[in-house]
Amino acid sequence: MTDQLLGFIGLGNMGGPMAVNLAAAGNPLICYDASGTAERAPEGAIHAAGSAEVAAKAAIVFLCLPDGPIANQVAGELMAAPDSIVEVVVDATTSGSAEARATHDMLAKAGIAYADAPVSGGASGARAGTLAMMVAAPDALFARLQPLLPPMAKNARHVGRRPGQGMAMKLLNNFLSGMAMAATSEAMAFGAAQGLDMATIIDTISVSSGKNTAITDKFPNRILPERYDSGFATRLMTKDLRLYVDSCKELNAPHNLSETLLRQVWGRMFEAMPDSDFTEVYPFTLDKDS
Ligand code: NAD
Repeated sequence: MTDQLLGFIGLGNMGGPMAVNLAAAGNPLICYDASGTAERAPEGAIHAAGSAEVAAKAAIVFLCLPDGPIANQVAGELMAAPDSIVEVVVDATTSGSAEARATHDMLAKAGIAYADAPVSGGASGARAGTLAMMVAAPDALFARLQPLLPPMAKNARHVGRRPGQGMAMKLLNNFLSGMAMAATSEAMAFGAAQGLDMATIIDTISVSSGKNTAITDKFPNRILPERYDSGFATRLMTKDLRLYVDSCKELNAPHNLSETLLRQVWGRMFEAMPDSDFTEVYPFTLDKDS
């Protein structure tokens, strides 16, 4: 907790509840969201008219924006604001490592520190404050930020010291998560074709070696009840997997599975329904021409 005003820009499915938890822990906030701050900001927070007003009033600014190019643009606005007092930008957006490095390098020219700090745990984790946060920052910067993180991210981890390493951790996580979602859907279809009951599959695999978050959360809580309310959009899953595959190619790292997953499942779903919740993927795993 701090007495100093903290900035928070991007109050969507993730940033909205993260800001609520930060404020509920007693941190004074100044917030901004391009789609409407008043409807999204936590109670008691100052509503800024734009990024420049946040920059003029907050030394530490959190970003939780749709993608890397937007985060880079907003970081640029914070830097260029005429009366900016920004010292640190903490970027909880999922960008690629290259985008994070570019934002870091741009801000460094103005003496502003940058930590990439993407999150995992979905909108429900954001509401509960149980997110994992994957922070890449020099030791001293992490030590400065660490006391602020627990209300938003019970599971904050200092994963590296170089800019972009937090994003790398997040992208590999989302490859695993996207694979688990698609593979579990295919396995469910197999089970159903064998006459197995879906609830029984979930109950059994939840205590077996095939256990994953699609089995323990997405299928029982969001897919079987037909709620499809994870709060994670298909366009975001596809963006993350594309960033992962592109990074693998740049590094000459193996990407057979991730590229197939992108082409056969998430890319096709993105073409058909980009704004859907990613838990609606089931039909796209059944038949590659469906
Ligand atoms: P979202 O689309 O719900 O929220 C993004 C918010 O940013 C929106 O409210 C939008 O109005 C605002 N915004 C866009 N451009 C802006 C600008 N120039 N200035 C100010 N505000 C602007 O997205 P989300 O689901 O909250 O995801 C945010 C980030 O977190 C993404 O990078 C996503 O990949 C990542 N993420 C999402 C989830 C999830 O389950 N939704 C989980 C982990 C990580």
